[in-house]
Amino acid sequence: MDLSHIINHLGESHERYQGAGAPPVYQTNNFVFETVDDMRKALAFEMDTPFYTRGNNPTVTILREKIAALEGAEECLMFGSGSAAISAGILSSVQSGDHIVCVRKPYSWTNKLLNLFLPRYGVTATMVDGTDPENFRKAIQPNTRLIMLESPNSLTFEVQDIPAVVAIAQEHGILTAIDNSYATPLNQQPILMGVDMVFHSASKYLSGHSDVVAGVLCCSRKKAEQIFKSEFMTLGGVLSPHDAWLVLRGLRTLPLRMERVAESTPRVVDFLAAHPGVAHVYYPFLLSNPQYEVARKQMKRPGGQFSILLRTDSIEGADRFCNSLKRFLMACSWGGYESLIFPMSTLYGSANYQNNEIPWNLVRFYVGLEDPELLIADLAQALEKMGMGE
Ligand SMILES: *Cc1c(COP(=O)(O)O)cnc(C)c1O
Repeated sequence: MDLSHIINHLGESHERYQGAGAPPVYQTNNFVFETVDDMRKALAFEMDTPFYTRGNNPTVTILREKIAALEGAEECLMFGSGSAAISAGILSSVQSGDHIVCVRKPYSWTNKLLNLFLPRYGVTATMVDGTDPENFRKAIQPNTRLIMLESPNSLTFEVQDIPAVVAIAQEHGILTAIDNSYATPLNQQPILMGVDMVFHSASKYLSGHSDVVAGVLCCSRKKAEQIFKSEFMTLGGVLSPHDAWLVLRGLRTLPLRMERVAESTPRVVDFLAAHPGVAHVYYPFLLSNPQYEVARKQMKRPGGQFSILLRTDSIEGADRFCNSLKRFLMACSWGGYESLIFPMSTLYGSANYQNNEIPWNLVRFYVGLEDPELLIADLAQALEKMGMGE
């Protein structure tokens, strides 16, 4: 199925909504039936039929069809956040006594799920350096049920060789899952590489305008039915019809936004990599990155997120750099229209700071849709204000 068809038409039928061009927001929690038999039929297929919006809603269904097609998956379930999707998918794969192998330094709330939340229910996790697929094999125990990937992972953007890890998992009959938020289905399609479950924070690129929190789980029809009947309906972390509509609207321009970001980010990265005020750049598509070839092999295009280590001895220097930026806004999240920075030094003294693998002079960047030359000029002046080595 071609990308234009998926983005512009799939799952929509104007005659069902009185010819409306844009699909309506079905802002209702329930759906009414003429006869007992109609109601009985709807209840029997709640995953596919509007009955109650915690299960199925027509606005959300359009989105499910489009995202499943983009991922090359049989099914997609939408959630009220990326974290809700990841939690439901991981919970569906384990029971008390089971074990998970996960790439080190995943998204912070994935880390909390695996290392704080699940141990309360007798599920343990081993975190491994994902740059060598053999590390996953070494961490496998007789009770390992799931290998969880995030490629590239958060903050330092190491890549995992997805087909190599899938091969190891399949040898052992272990499920695989991946957080694919960084790449989007346009740049990386893990289902086609044999991964069982794909997650997204749709709060990022898929919605693309920093105005919604949403999550995606793509998998086989069989797995989706199993998750729908238990974690999805029980935990109830569903996406509202209005937020689904916002994601649908954002999705219309996903290919354009991903192209723009793929063009401008390497230019910004090249400028920073050559600047004496920058000690290191973490970016999968940097030529000097030892993982460049793996990144190229499994991702079609560069993304907009990267991190740098500032060459400064003091938090004050790092703060001065960040405070001096005018075109990069300071905020969490990414994937919207606006360029952003997230300075790690802000986490010092915060209850959220548990990951001392990440140094305080690291700044995470997202390059949005602005003119990259203006962004580069802004970085140049802020690096000058930072000064060096004081
Ligand atoms: C933001 C993010 C999440 C969580 O998504 P929410 O929609 O904020 O719950 C998960 N994984 C990655 C890589 C993220 O950046």
